[in-house]
Amino acid sequence: MALDTEIKAQLAQYLELLENDVVFAAHLDESENSQKVREFLDEIQAMSPKISLVDKSLTRTPSFMINQKGQADSGVEFAGLPLGHEFTSFILALLQVGGRKPKVEEDVIRRIEKINRPLHFETYVSLTCHNCPDVVQSLNIMSVLNPNISHTMIEGGMFKDEVDAKKIMAVPTVFLDGEEFASGRMSIEQLVDLAAGPSSAEEFEDKGLFDVLVVGGGPSGSSAAIYAARKGIRTGMVVENFGGQVMETVGIENMIGTPYTEGPKLMAQVEQHVKEYPVEIMKGQRAKDIRKTDVVEVELENGAVLKAKSVVLALGAKWRNMNVPGEQEFRNKGVTYCPHCDGPLFTGKKVAVIGGGNSGIEAAIDLAGLAEHVYVLEFLPELKADQVLQDRVAKLDNITVLKNVATKDIVGSDEVTGLNYVDRTTNEEHHIDLSGVFVQIGLVPNTAWLKDRVELTNRGEIIVDKHGQTSMPGVFAAGDCTDSAYKQIIISMGSGATAALGAFDYLIRQ
Ligand SMILES: Cc1cc2nc3c(=O)[nH]c(=O)nc-3n(C[C@H](O)[C@H](O)[C@H](O)COP(=O)(O)OP(=O)(O)OC[C@H]3O[C@@H](n4cnc5c(N)ncnc54)[C@H](O)[C@@H]3O)c2cc1C
Repeated sequence: MALDTEIKAQLAQYLELLENDVVFAAHLDESENSQKVREFLDEIQAMSPKISLVDKSLTRTPSFMINQKGQADSGVEFAGLPLGHEFTSFILALLQVGGRKPKVEEDVIRRIEKINRPLHFETYVSLTCHNCPDVVQSLNIMSVLNPNISHTMIEGGMFKDEVDAKKIMAVPTVFLDGEEFASGRMSIEQLVDLAAGPSSAEEFEDKGLFDVLVVGGGPSGSSAAIYAARKGIRTGMVVENFGGQVMETVGIENMIGTPYTEGPKLMAQVEQHVKEYPVEIMKGQRAKDIRKTDVVEVELENGAVLKAKSVVLALGAKWRNMNVPGEQEFRNKGVTYCPHCDGPLFTGKKVAVIGGGNSGIEAAIDLAGLAEHVYVLEFLPELKADQVLQDRVAKLDNITVLKNVATKDIVGSDEVTGLNYVDRTTNEEHHIDLSGVFVQIGLVPNTAWLKDRVELTNRGEIIVDKHGQTSMPGVFAAGDCTDSAYKQIIISMGSGATAALGAFDYLIRQ
């Protein structure tokens, strides 16, 4: 049995929603992998009279396409088993090919439908990658909406030879018509921008004047938008990636009142909550400048200028780089920031984790289950991780902890082959042969573009007062991009609320 009883029960409810008959058109042989895929498809087919299974010649074995019965090929194809984090992608594809409208903004649908040249995407994923489903689901939606577009999800574990031949060392990695196209988590708006070109500045000309314009769509920005909209004032949101860092979080156990949830699930609920209010969300847009005139002007990367009486900056943070030679050159070619996503690609290989804090040590413990050997490099003389994590590391034979060492550079040719570090006690240089470097040295606020605009701490955090007000009148800030002492989901949501209420107070005093 490919599916457990609980999953089958959930699946049965989804299959009730199938609007039309669908066909699994599969390319299978007698191999063990093909048998697994056959068993999976047979089990699902047996659960609904609306599903049938036929043979079809496809490029990869095992693979299958999902088509609507009696219609042309949908272009939605899965090579390997879509289990783990990809099971949801499979169910959504099934429902959407079966006629259910994808949940995407109307302007994005229009942009997808306008693409008038053939595009074939292939996405390499691992089943433990929580960043992959967003990309797979977006490209599947694009295929369902536009017959010029097709997409194959390729499960790296079953197609390891392809992964090795293409030197894929990070997932998701997307190829377009055989050429490497993009890598990492991307929203549908970003993929459409890449495929069809960015939305033009003219599309933003009629936006008018917002009472509150929130920049950022993580927990703090979403909370600010909800609080502002609930005051009945005109609220907009400019968001590069809805969800923010939480989308990278697998298990969350400190949302008070919710003992356990997962990042993508939480942020889908948050987005739904925001959409219950008349908030104008402009996704896939990055702010690059802010100016105070008689109003506040926010300039986007496409040149559009949005105007608001007040602004909440909720920009969050991103992974800190090591800034050593080789880090950028080998990004996604051995240098990575996501152990959950890319760990399986380093099975049986030697890897390093840079950073001995909680995330570094958690990553090392996680990777030790897959990798041949894990080296942890900590700059300080002692690890900063909790003692309980350090105790676990001490019990694992395949982890070596190197303390008081500085990474000098990462070396390789097409991909990482090793790193050099300096022992800070002896000043001696050492080399380690390895295939992967996982960087886990904390986060930096996304505020580089604000340097000469609002007052920042020497760590680049926006300085706010107790109302969330920054040094620029009418501009408020919230969450991880500020100088708040602690960076957590619940804290950012609280500060988003504070900033929105601060902005409302500011507006009624104008
Ligand atoms: C791996 C990991 C695990 C974590 N686990 C937990 C946990 O279990 N519990 C917990 O409480 N906290 C956890 N955290 C911390 C938590 O995720 C953050 O505190 C929280 O996400 C901060 O929310 P935020 O809205 O301030 O910023 P973010 O979540 O970073 O969101 C920032 C938003 O701003 C957008 N943005 C940035 N720059 C621009 C721009 N120029 N223009 C337009 N948009 C822009 C981004 O696209 C994003 O939408 C974790 C963090 C990480 C990285």
